Amino acid sequence: MQFNSIWVGIQIKTKKDMKRQIKKWTYRLTATVLLLVGLLLIIILNPILTYANKTTHKNFTIYHNKPIDSLLFSSLESAAMLLTTSDFYNNNLKLDICLNDGSLYPSIIKAIQGQAFAWGFYNKVVIYGKINCKKNFVQLNGYHWNLIQLLAHEMIHCVQYDRLGLIKSNPIANIPNWKWEGYAEYISRQNTNQKSLISNIDHQNQTDINSWELTFEDNTITPRAYYNYWILTQYCLDIKKMSYQTLLTDSTSEQSYKEEMMNWYNTKKSKTNTLDLRSIGD
Ligand SMILES: [Zn+2]
Repeated sequence: MQFNSIWVGIQIKTKKDMKRQIKKWTYRLTATVLLLVGLLLIIILNPILTYANKTTHKNFTIYHNKPIDSLLFSSLESAAMLLTTSDFYNNNLKLDICLNDGSLYPSIIKAIQGQAFAWGFYNKVVIYGKINCKKNFVQLNGYHWNLIQLLAHEMIHCVQYDRLGLIKSNPIANIPNWKWEGYAEYISRQNTNQKSLISNIDHQNQTDINSWELTFEDNTITPRAYYNYWILTQYCLDIKKMSYQTLLTDSTSEQSYKEEMMNWYNTKKSKTNTLDLRSIGD
C-alpha cells in the first residue's frame, strides 16, 4: 500500500517535471526561432552586411562585390523613366539594387522566395540572373529577360509597397497575381511594339499554347502566365480606362475580364477584316 502511494507520487512528480521541461524547451525554441528570424530580417533589410561595396547613383544604392559595369547606371535610369508613367510613382523613392556577384544576399532571398530572374520587395530589387548591360538582358537557365524591363518590373513592386504599405501589399494582402504581376509587366513593357493590345493578343494567339514562355521581338521572354496577366491589365487600364487603384478594389473576376477582353478583341478583328475586304473590293 505504502509502496503504491510512493510510486504514484513519483509518477505525478515525473509528469510535472516533464511538463516543466516541455515548457522550458518550448520557450527556448521560440526564443531561438525569433532570434533567427530577427537576424534574417536585419540581414535582409541591411544588404551592406553581406556585400563588400555599395555605390550610390541618383535614387539608387547599388550593392555589389565586384566592380560595376558603368552601363548599369543608364539601364537603371531607363527603368526609372518607365516608372514615371505609373499613378503610384514617387520620385523621392530610394531603392536598393542588390547584384548577384558573390554576396550571400541573393542566395538568402532565393531560399525564401524561390528561383527567379529577380525579386522586388519593400525598397529592394535583387537581380539573381546574369546581367548583360550592353546587350540589355538578364540570363537565367538559358532564357533572356530584357534587363531594363526586368528592372522596371521589380521596381514597380517597390512602388506598390511604397504606395499601398506592407499590409495592403502581397503576400499579406493576397492581391490576385494578375493584378500584382500584371501591373509590373504593364508598366515595364512599353516598347513601341508592345503598346497595341490587339497586336499583343495576336502574338499570344500565334504562339504554341504548351510553351512555358512567350518571346518578344528582341528575343527576350516572359512566362506565359505573366504575359496573360499583362494583357488583361492592359485591357483594364488602356481600353476600360481604369486607374490601377480602381482595378485593385474592383471585384470582377479574372475570368470575366478575360471573356470581356476576348469579345472586345473578336469584335475589333472582325471590323478590321471587314474593312480589309472592302479595301480589296475597291
Ligand atoms: Zn513580379
